[in-house]
Amino acid sequence: MTDLAARLDRLRGDAPARNHDARTIAALTTNPGCGRRGLMDAAGIDKDAVARYLGFPAPFGQSQFAIARGNAFEKQVKDDGFAELFTLLRERLGLPVPQVAIESLDEVGGNHGSELRHAQTRRALARALAGDGSTLFDHPLLRLDIAGQPAYLEPDVLAFRLGDKFYVIEIKSFAIIDGQADPEQVAAAARQSAVYVLALRRLLTQLGHPATAVSHEVILVCPENFSNQPAAAFVDVRKQLSVIERQLSRISRIDDLVAALPEEMTFELGDGLASAIRAVEARYAPDCVSSCELAFFCRDEARACGSTDLLGIAVRDDVGGVETLATALGLADGSLAPSPEQVEIAAKLRLARLLRAQALEGVA
Ligand code: SF4
Repeated sequence: MTDLAARLDRLRGDAPARNHDARTIAALTTNPGCGRRGLMDAAGIDKDAVARYLGFPAPFGQSQFAIARGNAFEKQVKDDGFAELFTLLRERLGLPVPQVAIESLDEVGGNHGSELRHAQTRRALARALAGDGSTLFDHPLLRLDIAGQPAYLEPDVLAFRLGDKFYVIEIKSFAIIDGQADPEQVAAAARQSAVYVLALRRLLTQLGHPATAVSHEVILVCPENFSNQPAAAFVDVRKQLSVIERQLSRISRIDDLVAALPEEMTFELGDGLASAIRAVEARYAPDCVSSCELAFFCRDEARACGSTDLLGIAVRDDVGGVETLATALGLADGSLAPSPEQVEIAAKLRLARLLRAQALEGVA
């Protein structure tokens, strides 16, 4: 174990490590500059448990009903040797699917260990690339490096090889009604699928094949029209792929963050937890509420100091160098003299205040 891995283990304490999945990686890209989140995720800390312990539970997470419905739908699609799936691929998407050999990759001789399963996935794909293996891979275990740390991805998806292309297939239980699905759920599925495409591309590149051997079109399978009948559609994830690649490369490197922390610091549930978390810099933004379990803790912290972070990333960037709302308001109404580096932003804030007052006069 490296020094960094050992230090991350100590930060987590006795709690079991929480693995990344595509949802957490996709969410990570919504606030890549947040060192707090990057560090806690790299250490495998259960942020949901931390938020609950601190009295700021996150409002998201799937209901048991939704999870049961999702599992039942996935089972239906996979039953009878994936019969419904192959019918969809042939009849709905017009793919010339030949006789298919299926390989399940969710264990290695009864062992579910991540490294073993990833090695098995790698071997299975290498055989397929040599033209000598299966064409459908159920539960491949992929890997991505996040902030210098390997993260294993446990997809509920399939990798499907057709000709010289691999396709990621994602099975979701939200409905397509009259040809339309909830755009937010489709967008979330596209972001998650893009994480799998990226991880699969990196694996194929390691195996000496071009990244383009994995299609940028993923196949989304969902129930249709309030029935449990599956429908399938191609979703182009090129945009999501480039966002995720760019954001992942910008996530702060964890070793720099760890080096700045006191040696004895830990995120174990206990008396010192809140102050340990506050010791790591955060970049709160309103979007955190839909993407990070610590959102209400960080929002409370930002409120307590009246941070301009509360107004969102665009406003925070617009008023760069002005840390608090009180300072922004003081500069805007002239009650606060700007420092030399605040002169320009102070002029903009005064103009904004004037324009707002004129607009309100016009309404009155
Ligand atoms: S909620 Fe807090 S820890 Fe999570 S991304 Fe936002 S600022 Fe970072």
